Amino acid sequence: MRWMLGVSFGELMLKGKNRKKFINDSIKQILKAIENFEIGEYFLDHGKLFIEVNKEDFDAIIEKTRMVFGLSYVYPSIQVEKNFEDIQNGIIELINNENIEENVSFKAIANRADKSFELNSMQIAAKVGGIVLRNFDNFSVDVKNPQKEIHVDIRQKAYVYMDKIKTIGGLPIGTGGKALLLLSGGIDSPVAGFEIASRGVEIGAIHFHSYPFTSERAQEKAKDLARQLSIYIGEIEYYQINLLNIYTEINKKCRARYTTVIARRFMMRIGEEIAKKHRYDGFVTGEALGQVASQTIQSISVVNAATNLPILRPLINMDKVDIIDKAKWIDTYDISIQPYDDCCSFFAPDRPATKPRIYDILKEEEKLDIDALVEDALTTLEVIKINVDDE
Ligand code: ATP
Ligand code: MG
Repeated sequence: MRWMLGVSFGELMLKGKNRKKFINDSIKQILKAIENFEIGEYFLDHGKLFIEVNKEDFDAIIEKTRMVFGLSYVYPSIQVEKNFEDIQNGIIELINNENIEENVSFKAIANRADKSFELNSMQIAAKVGGIVLRNFDNFSVDVKNPQKEIHVDIRQKAYVYMDKIKTIGGLPIGTGGKALLLLSGGIDSPVAGFEIASRGVEIGAIHFHSYPFTSERAQEKAKDLARQLSIYIGEIEYYQINLLNIYTEINKKCRARYTTVIARRFMMRIGEEIAKKHRYDGFVTGEALGQVASQTIQSISVVNAATNLPILRPLINMDKVDIIDKAKWIDTYDISIQPYDDCCSFFAPDRPATKPRIYDILKEEEKLDIDALVEDALTTLEVIKINVDDE
């Protein structure tokens, strides 16, 4: 008899070889997420993953595992041999472990993945019900509205468990290409990165700062956000660019009402150079319609015109309160509200154009040497790998 964490995988559309690869990748992600714990054997048994763990570590290990994309449930389980004497011992251990003293109602549920097992699931469940009733006076059957479920899962081996715990779901990272997240220090962009990552997309992050006009602490803040994201999405390739020269030039030569949108177009051009070199398929931003005066369809269209790559905007129709809830849920909110500003807020005009037209923007941009400015900004590029274990 041994305690094992059971893990079931989400409904992958993939079949055959690809499915195998992604399950293997998911197993790697899980092992990475729990690498600080002592584990024993792990293996797939009829498509479900089982990892031998110390009973005392269950809660902490479940907290980590349920944050890996691409899984559906985790199950604290006991593995036993496939005979009813051992199954009975397993059930007794499982229930004793919970120290239940009050009266509880329960339902026995059986699943038979191994179809060669001599009893069908109804028959197994009936036997299990009998085992519980014989051994625990305070347990009574209620099939409609039970307080507890006692599960027996017949595979290569038999597994008994009571709880199944829902994970964050999503698709395993790497199933959906690679995107470059424009990561400011704000509340929205980390949430946007999380959302797109949850669809299986590998995320790199690019942050624009204006050092020494903005503090070093503002840069640290963006890195802290990336580090928090890496809990869910693994190691992040992180790019940092100094945009101060470009802002200064725009400020000097262009009409103030267009500063934000022209700067955003530079971010896209610079981002595109990095995307080409490092093979990103598109961008992700935290823009939401109407959130600030400059986030309009017209601005979006002017920004889109600066790049050939798609720009994913997963928060586009979300309310700020919902974005904040999500930011709290993924634990980026407290970092985002630290008072260190990135470049944009300093240079943002009082009255930005809410309906910029591409014709006007192009005319403004004629006053700038765009290629030289982009090239110059790229000389400030710093690339680092950000990992949850870094301090
Ligand atoms: P956030 O909360 O993500 O900062 P916001 O509501 O403040 O968003 P803006 O400042 O208009 O909105 O920025 C819109 C999007 O542009 C951001 O979500 C982010 O994706 C990108 N962005 C803005 N500033 C930067 C920056 N300094 N570095 C990288 N990306 C940025
Ligand atoms: Mg911002």
